[in-house]
Amino acid sequence: MPKVLAPRDTIGILGGGQLGRMTALAAAELGLRTLIYQPERDGPGFDVATETMSGAYEDEARLAEFAARCDVITYEFENVPAATVAFLDALKPVRPGARMLSVSQDRLAEKDFITGLGIACAPYRAIDSLSDLEAAVAAMGRPSVLKTRRFGYDGKGQVLIRAETVLAEAWSTIGGQPAVLEGFVPFIAEVSVIAARGVDGSFAAYDLCENEHRNHILWQTSVPARVAPETADAALEIARKIGAGLETTGVFAVELFLVRENTGERLVVNEIAPRVHNSGHWTIEGAECSQFEQHVRAVAGWPLGSTARTGRAITMQNLIGYEAGDWLTLASEPGAHLHLYGKSEARPGRKMGHVTRVRR
Ligand code: AMP
Repeated sequence: MPKVLAPRDTIGILGGGQLGRMTALAAAELGLRTLIYQPERDGPGFDVATETMSGAYEDEARLAEFAARCDVITYEFENVPAATVAFLDALKPVRPGARMLSVSQDRLAEKDFITGLGIACAPYRAIDSLSDLEAAVAAMGRPSVLKTRRFGYDGKGQVLIRAETVLAEAWSTIGGQPAVLEGFVPFIAEVSVIAARGVDGSFAAYDLCENEHRNHILWQTSVPARVAPETADAALEIARKIGAGLETTGVFAVELFLVRENTGERLVVNEIAPRVHNSGHWTIEGAECSQFEQHVRAVAGWPLGSTARTGRAITMQNLIGYEAGDWLTLASEPGAHLHLYGKSEARPGRKMGHVTRVRR
């Protein structure tokens, strides 16, 4: 029988950024304790978790000490080393499991998995050398997108191959690391599904989110996405298949491109995030059960909560860098739900907070 947590049991969270922070807040509301572990001695999560620990992800003695103090373990970011999760999983249940992590950490494994389910993703080829890149670009054409297999986020670790791009330069820009070349998807919008799978295999998903990026960073999410009802249903079904295929437990996100053709709308999966997601922050005020509470429920072995929307239309806007300096103005706006992550220093591109507006 999968472990079910009781109130006052402890959820260990690897990573103490804003996602860990909002997860810890949700756990507290359900009477659960949290222990955040990360290498840094400070972070947004450390202000609100019940307890904190600093240690390297490679420090097995420290990790064992961490595991001994937890009833179940989760993580708030996908770049936690697979070896760390494997080590911890032998001591306490880690949710989501190792398969979700290994697939979502590696763009090639991810695309092989998605295609294997019969779900569309951008055409792709594995790239391990400059000559692989030359052959792939010759076959797939330009524009195309070169992405490192690992450690890419917010547009980092990727290069757009345009008509004039010198391939040797593109290859050196990504540091000559194992990569994939993707065909360019002529999308009209980017959408995401925030979904959850319970330990018993139950599934729940929120309404489809429509996401606008600026400088490769999520700027605004609007819900519901402006798509045909069949498209929204199809997106949720894609997420259900992915969650079941990975036998995951917890909240995860599927980012998709929306392509509009004469024949109608088509969805292409971009990537899977094995965790709560920035495009799901609106659920704190905009859904019956937030994505953070949902994740806590799932990893605790509790029943999933209702994903029903609480308003007609909801927007979530990130406060990036110095935008958070407007907090007094935002705090005085009626109906604006302001969230600040307590980061000490604003830097360009740094997510400092977000604001959600629910139209009823
Ligand atoms: P990613 O890091 O994979 O989420 O990519 C960052 C952004 O680059 C996406 O949000 C898209 O705007 C763009 N992008 C990535 N891959 C493709 C693609 N195959 N075709 C077109 N645009 C892409």
